[in-house]
Amino acid sequence: MMSNQVHDLDVTNANIPIAISARHCHINEEDFYHLFGRKAVLQKWKALSLPGQFASQQVLTIKGPRGHIDNVRVLGPFRTETQVEISQTDAIKLGVAPPIRMSGDLADSESITLIGTNGIRHKKQGLIIAQAHIHMAVSDAAAFHVKDKDIVTVEISGKVRQLHLMNVVVRVSPDFILEMHVDTDEANAAAIHTHSIGKLIKME
Ligand SMILES: [Zn+2]
Repeated sequence: MMSNQVHDLDVTNANIPIAISARHCHINEEDFYHLFGRKAVLQKWKALSLPGQFASQQVLTIKGPRGHIDNVRVLGPFRTETQVEISQTDAIKLGVAPPIRMSGDLADSESITLIGTNGIRHKKQGLIIAQAHIHMAVSDAAAFHVKDKDIVTVEISGKVRQLHLMNVVVRVSPDFILEMHVDTDEANAAAIHTHSIGKLIKME
């Protein structure tokens, strides 16, 4: 097959549950204790759909040159690097220009100031806008005829608006359950809410 050929998939059962990621902060141990104090505990407030991941009881304030946003949820468990994920709308409010990236790809990402109940931390990098992606189990990837890191297009349709979101990254792991993650700007653009469904429409 030509590599640039558009390949229409069999769309039978191609429905993908969509989860909308609000702005949040993955945190490393050092930053957590600096921001919330030595006695703070990173513990589960709500489970997230990815196994082992949780929303903690902590929230922090993020601050940029133009403004700040309160009540940004801290997620656990601890990561090696602190990573804050916001939307483009948030970026405008803060006066920052984070790159659109996959989680963990933080080289030369945007700087951000974190304000906790116990301290302030200025991070030289770690602020990104998360690239839309689909978590898939190995069996899902086989059913969709895609593999890890493939770039696909997904139709996300609210009741009134239909949107084709391009440059969606496929992520395959035995630990994943089938779920597409979009940010609040992408969800609002399609006027979708929780429990919406996306359709994988083609490979690029
Ligand atoms: Zn995700």
